[in-house]
Amino acid sequence: MKEIILVKNGELALKGLNRSSFEDKLVKNIKHKISDLGDFEFTKSQSTIMVEPLDDDIDLDEAADRISRVFGIAAFSRACECEKDFDDIKVKACEYLFDELSEAETFKVEAKRSDKKFPMKSPEISRELGGYILSKFKNLKVDVHNPDIIVTVEVREKYAFVRGNNIKGAGGMPTGTNGRAAVLISGGIDSPVAAYMMAKRGIELCAVHFASPPYTSELAEMKVMDLLKKVARYSGVITTYVVPFTELQEAIRDYCLEEYFTIIMRRLMMKLSQKVAEMQNCTALITGESVGQVASQTMYALACTDCAASMPIFRPCIGMDKEEIIAISRKIDTFDISIQPYEDCCTVFTPKHPKTRPHLDDVIKAEQKIPELDAMLQRAFDNVKKVIIK
Ligand code: ATP
Ligand code: MG
Repeated sequence: MKEIILVKNGELALKGLNRSSFEDKLVKNIKHKISDLGDFEFTKSQSTIMVEPLDDDIDLDEAADRISRVFGIAAFSRACECEKDFDDIKVKACEYLFDELSEAETFKVEAKRSDKKFPMKSPEISRELGGYILSKFKNLKVDVHNPDIIVTVEVREKYAFVRGNNIKGAGGMPTGTNGRAAVLISGGIDSPVAAYMMAKRGIELCAVHFASPPYTSELAEMKVMDLLKKVARYSGVITTYVVPFTELQEAIRDYCLEEYFTIIMRRLMMKLSQKVAEMQNCTALITGESVGQVASQTMYALACTDCAASMPIFRPCIGMDKEEIIAISRKIDTFDISIQPYEDCCTVFTPKHPKTRPHLDDVIKAEQKIPELDAMLQRAFDNVKKVIIK
């Protein structure tokens, strides 16, 4: 039996005149994700993209798994190709959907006939196929309102196909349709989730990670790369920059008022991230911050951090509880990596009593105590290490 994958566009349908270019981008993204599995043909029609394998030995399970993580897809399904002949359709429907039909209690048939030369009309196909399925599966009853399984038959120009229920797609918008942004990635739970959430809106990612050896280890850095690999399964390639942060952190420790350590560190992170972002043609930064989570994430602290960069800073987790963030991290499979206990530069030299209501003027005054700060920032920037995450 020849199988294909049918992809339903998501929000794309709303995009008016832009729709076709969004669709083209989606097709390109799907192609890119599965092309190493073999040759496929892609056909667009209405809001469906047909993905047809051209070799017999293509791993369609793997292709479907990858497609489930392509943004811009509302739903997809696997379908079995049939001859445009009702006898072939009915036999293949029962064979192809045998497992689902055996397990279900209720079903209905929906038929769509876009080839008007096909001798049976849609209601007739539904009725006849429904009757045939009932005769083969004694466990089944018809329920037109809330069936366990909808058997869909489509009769198109080239051939007909049958399929079972749709599978929910990754949603969002196709990667690359909304520009580029740089995510500040730590080894924690929140920042990979933030990266995923913005990528879902069609934003292409690059990433910045601050490392402070010897206070932070090689293993901590590897953990970050493992997290990014998980995110990249959705977002595609993530060009990542590891910024050497030790000298700056030690300078903060040596010259600044302790209660401002963290907030100044965060401001320097923003300044450097913006430099990396500009180099990577990004127009925004992304962080995993959430109001009130820690002292450096009070509204007052965030306002001081904000001023360090002129680019917009997107914080998609801003209004979320930790539980909600964790639910997403489990879904995208980053949680188990995030909870591995490695140190982050944020946990080095943490003040005992951080200011939760810092005033920007005071913070800037404290920051200005660092001698030759600009030169030090430039040095960190000049020594970034680039890693391509696929
Ligand atoms: P997570 O690290 O997952 O965000 P968290 O609650 O530990 O969880 P913080 O450590 O307070 O968050 O950091 C807030 C945000 O700052 C992170 O979401 C991330 O965007 C950024 N950040 C923190 N540490 C680093 C780092 N070492 N490199 C790059 N960005 C970082
Ligand atoms: Mg963290």
